[in-house]
Amino acid sequence: MNPSEAAIAMAAPLARRSRQARIVWGSSVVTVGGDAPVRVQSMTNTDTVDAIATAIQVRQLAQAGSEFVRITVNTPEAAAAVPYIREQLDRMGESVPLVGDFHYNGHRLLTDFPDCAQALSKYRINPGNVGKGDKRDKQFGQMIEAAVRWDKAVRIGVNWGSLDQELLAELMDANGRRSQPWDARQVMYEALITSAIESARRAEEMGLKGEQIILSCKVSGVQDLIAVYRELSRRCDYALHLGLTEAGMGTKGIVASTAALSVLLQEGIGDTIRVSLTPQPGEARTQEVVVAAEILQSLGLRAFVPSVTACPGCGRTTSTTFQELAKQIDDYLRAQMPVWRERYPGVERLKVAVMGCIVNGPGESKHADIGISLPGTGEAPAAPVFIDGEKAMTLRGDNIVGEFQAIVDGYIDRRFGANM
Ligand code: SF4
Repeated sequence: MNPSEAAIAMAAPLARRSRQARIVWGSSVVTVGGDAPVRVQSMTNTDTVDAIATAIQVRQLAQAGSEFVRITVNTPEAAAAVPYIREQLDRMGESVPLVGDFHYNGHRLLTDFPDCAQALSKYRINPGNVGKGDKRDKQFGQMIEAAVRWDKAVRIGVNWGSLDQELLAELMDANGRRSQPWDARQVMYEALITSAIESARRAEEMGLKGEQIILSCKVSGVQDLIAVYRELSRRCDYALHLGLTEAGMGTKGIVASTAALSVLLQEGIGDTIRVSLTPQPGEARTQEVVVAAEILQSLGLRAFVPSVTACPGCGRTTSTTFQELAKQIDDYLRAQMPVWRERYPGVERLKVAVMGCIVNGPGESKHADIGISLPGTGEAPAAPVFIDGEKAMTLRGDNIVGEFQAIVDGYIDRRFGANM
């Protein structure tokens, strides 16, 4: 066949590789891995002792799209607050599962505060922070015993900032005896992966089911993360949580997380994700959830909110009208989602286009479910609106934003309303 006649291969993420994990709490179950959708996670930055503030932030994160929310459980006071946080959430009608983040004293807290152990849906255990020397296995074992006793899932979360130093030293010694020693970075990768998999196997030996185990090996470099997870996923079939740890602030954190996670997700690696952004002053904690959801939506793996296609603008748009309209529509659609999710099933797949002039405006608008092409500089002051690929009307005057918003509302109600 003439190469020019060959069809271009469609791009799609590879099939997922992990077994399915089940997170059970009360009568609810969330599946992770296998054929379940890739889940979004986040973490609060409130003081867990402040049960009300923590419950409010958990709810905000859940409403933004987070399907698990992790909270710090670092002191007896924090452990004592956990059941109240769960209670507050239940009163608000918020059923998102809570994950307890334990370091150093998790064995004691999970033993001394059974109500906390019960109220959490999953425990995050860092094998590098469970104790040193002969205490390590015992304290790790106490946490696994709590998970078995209360039938909870566990994330064995290794982090290169708190890697098990004894294991690393052992692997360094073994490396020194190789005829061709590995690079120090490869030894560190090996230590991360070995720590995660050996801890998971120990947990299974103690009675935790493989379906209750999720693994993560977090690092802060994009290429390091890709290398570690490719190997981790080759060596085991536990469900995997992905995230670039300490990704940083603003654009840097968003781009680095997106770059790393996209490569792995496209290869079918990763069952839950978190984008660990450092919030900029005044920025909402929910930003990390918005970014994680956008990564999954951009890759075509999930749909969380209607998407707005907007052109970047150029010399043909000398006013900011179309930028303002695009932002207002995007903000409006996101703000409505907590209500629309219930009322209009499927609305998250809606595509809206807001374009700046006639060059690409009508064409792009026709590809969307509903689109508007605003007048560029020198064009007649009219904005054609396209619905399902057909020109439906033309808006004029000072209230184009309000009128277009009403048209979007009407379209959503007709297409996704209960009577359809
Ligand atoms: S659609 Fe028009 S305004 Fe927007 S980038 Fe293209 S040419 Fe410029």
